[in-house]
Amino acid sequence: MNLVLMGLPGAGKGTQAEKIVEKYGIPHISTGDMFRAAMAEGTDLGLKAKSFMDKGELVPDEVTIGIVRERLAKDDCQKGFLLDGFPRTVAQADALENILADFGKKIDYVINVAVDKDILMERLTGRRICKDCGATYHLVFNAPKNEGVCDRCSGELYQRADDNEETVQNRLDVNLKQTQPLLDFYSEKGYLKDINGQQDIDKVFEDIDQLLVGLNG
Ligand SMILES: [Zn+2]
Repeated sequence: MNLVLMGLPGAGKGTQAEKIVEKYGIPHISTGDMFRAAMAEGTDLGLKAKSFMDKGELVPDEVTIGIVRERLAKDDCQKGFLLDGFPRTVAQADALENILADFGKKIDYVINVAVDKDILMERLTGRRICKDCGATYHLVFNAPKNEGVCDRCSGELYQRADDNEETVQNRLDVNLKQTQPLLDFYSEKGYLKDINGQQDIDKVFEDIDQLLVGLNG
């Protein structure tokens, strides 16, 4: 069960990743975790990655790809893996194809948790936080009883700068632009499976599960 998980911010990818990993017992391999582990182990590539990150620079592809290769070679990946946050570019996707070919493997599915942009905007801009106690609310999913007022302590609710419409719009546009070539790449290869992420969380997982049960059988 060799999987790549994709989805824009707010699509609910993290939640689905947890559910997949829990049910199928494959490792969840996110880029951040992978870097942290390589650095903690002090591998050559981990140290290289660290030297770039310490300078605030992007880790070059050859280092990232090397770390992915080392990670996928580990025992816990023999029955499968769930890659999350890698690949980000078509060049990285190509490199992943090569790594897997070297291991005599291939990707089974690229699962794309698809949600319309206007719904993502609603999800991502709706968060409100209490100035006094830090409680978080969401205008759509977890609205306070009184607008702008904390249920717990009556403190004032505010919106983080990261959550404002313009910032979110930009973040989504950048992500969309980056993601589309990857989706096209995987679609051409026949790996891509769009999952409707606009349903409730359990139904989204049911759809993913239906896909994966087929692999196991
Ligand atoms: Zn409060």
